[in-house]
Amino acid sequence: MTSAEDQLEFDSAAEVDADEALDSLGVGIGPRLLIVGPPGAGKGTQAARLSEHFGIPTISTGDIFRFNIANETELGVKVKAIVDSGDYVPDELTNALVADRLTEDDALVGFLLDGYPRTPDQVDFLDAFLAEREQKLDAVIRLVADTDEIVERLRRRALEQGRTDDTEDAIRHRQEVYRRETEPLMAAFGDRGILVEVDGFGAVDEITERIITALDGAGISAPDAELTDRP
Ligand code: ADP
Repeated sequence: MTSAEDQLEFDSAAEVDADEALDSLGVGIGPRLLIVGPPGAGKGTQAARLSEHFGIPTISTGDIFRFNIANETELGVKVKAIVDSGDYVPDELTNALVADRLTEDDALVGFLLDGYPRTPDQVDFLDAFLAEREQKLDAVIRLVADTDEIVERLRRRALEQGRTDDTEDAIRHRQEVYRRETEPLMAAFGDRGILVEVDGFGAVDEITERIITALDGAGISAPDAELTDRP
């Protein structure tokens, strides 16, 4: 075998075993997760808890857009009107932003995507992005929530956080856009056998417990869960 062939073999083996290599360095590999649900279903709250539980970063496209809007960055100025009206930011922009973020070091050990993907194009982009890295999604957590409950929560949040996209019209519009654009994507995740449905009604702690139990049932648990989670 020539040394070029040697090198080639070494390179492709190295890529395939990237997860194992990290593992052998003592860097635990967490899951690659999505959390999906209608606006106001409590995704952000649960995402923060799951991030901590699994030791993985939450990547929230909504938070990234709001941060950029608040800081009047070039991206923020571009998307402000869209986000304030409750429409979706164009896929090209959103995909590029997520690709950038997923390439950062902390996302090597897993991630929880909150609010992405929301369109068929975003699903395709994410699949291709992960496939290139020999990675795939482990589970899609779908928070199921009642519309009345949601409207009530969003009203409270508007008062507490003063989000500029939490006006009544924008809230209603975001619900419609979600039902029309994003809900239909869930069937495909169901077909892949990675959809984990969780009732989003109840106390915050209860819901977290439900999600962790459901993921556990799907074979996804925190690294060293046996050591750290037992009282
Ligand atoms: P909510 O869950 O209440 O809709 P988010 O914080 O997830 O709130 O998103 C707020 C806004 O940011 C959306 O209404 C949309 O304008 C924009 N946005 C967030 N994620 C995406 C995405 N994946 N694709 C397009 N637009 C997005």
